Amino acid sequence: MVSSTLNNPTQIPADAVKVRFLDLRVLDADYRAEIHEAVERVLLHGRFIMGPEHDAFEDAIADFCQTPFAVGVGSGSDALYLSLRTLDLQPGDEVITTPLTWVATTNAIVLAGGTPVYADVADDYNIDADTIEDRITPKTRAILLVHFTGQMCDMDKIMAIATKHGIDVIEDSAQAFGATYNGKPAGSLGTMGCFSMNPMKIMNAFGEAGAVTVGDEARRDRLQSLRYAGTINKENCVTPSINGRLDTIQAAMLLVNLKHLPAKIEARRTFASIYTSELSGIVGTPPLHNDRDHIYYSYTINADDRDGLMAHLRADGIETKIQHPILMPDHDAYKGRFDADIPGARKLIERIVCIPCHEHMTEDEAAHVIASIKAFYGA
Ligand SMILES: *Cc1c(COP(=O)(O)O)cnc(C)c1O
Repeated sequence: MVSSTLNNPTQIPADAVKVRFLDLRVLDADYRAEIHEAVERVLLHGRFIMGPEHDAFEDAIADFCQTPFAVGVGSGSDALYLSLRTLDLQPGDEVITTPLTWVATTNAIVLAGGTPVYADVADDYNIDADTIEDRITPKTRAILLVHFTGQMCDMDKIMAIATKHGIDVIEDSAQAFGATYNGKPAGSLGTMGCFSMNPMKIMNAFGEAGAVTVGDEARRDRLQSLRYAGTINKENCVTPSINGRLDTIQAAMLLVNLKHLPAKIEARRTFASIYTSELSGIVGTPPLHNDRDHIYYSYTINADDRDGLMAHLRADGIETKIQHPILMPDHDAYKGRFDADIPGARKLIERIVCIPCHEHMTEDEAAHVIASIKAFYGA
């Protein structure tokens, strides 16, 4: 059962909070001034949608992700939906995906006219590449994987399967901007990469925003049409679609945040390594792979008596979160609609919890989290 109180950090009385799960306020005055300056520039030129900062943002994302093109869109959900629309899925077409993610992933498949087929999840919380090939049928069109928690999937294996069967790979990289696999950035290995830049994400806007990375120019053109009502030359609609464009103001602020990203990732890695050295053997710390760099969108542990631990941490003023407490096929919208033989995911969903790990926390706060976890397990 999912308990909404368990997953709601606001349940801790404000005066008792000692360690926040995330802190999105912009408290640094210099940084705030950079943001104000970026907004000011957009207010003065007045091109609020797809203005010059929007184009510069697309170039910067393509550059960062080492892909030929990037397409700015309104959100990560738009990125996923519009990417899947480029596949022209026909009724019955299948997309293999993970059951452990935010629901936007499965929603996009269904909204684009496809049928989700669930592979299982491995101990590193990502799609288990060894359970993908079994699920391939003549109807399989793509693999929509998620680089969950900020560490990339087993890309060599997944790309080999996709190549062998002639299907596309879409990387839901919403949690993995800046993560790499053998030095290659998330979003650069599949047919397309989908990014969310909502405020919770490590590469964040101050509102909704997203992007798609893409290597093929014709597909880039298709995405540009699909993000604006399915039009070409801004007027003639060639296929019905949504308005999924990105605001210039968000793009301008994102360009500022891109400069600050390396320091943010570094801070998260520092706290993550403190947690891992202090907590391994007490809880399951995030399994790491030598060929991948984790950006720690979340620091997700695998814990005995997870609910008891969350209650204990809450009493100690520490906010935690389960990301995400409902597996895809168990959402009310999808219950009973799609088969899912996913024992690995079913086991993990009872055990995972994210503990605070972000650039605004202090070493004392991390020490408090560690001490509280050790006390709970009598370590
Ligand atoms: C955040 C997220 C999304 C959706 O992004 P929005 O910008 O909130 O629409 C999709 N997939 C994953 C894995 C996410 O974490």
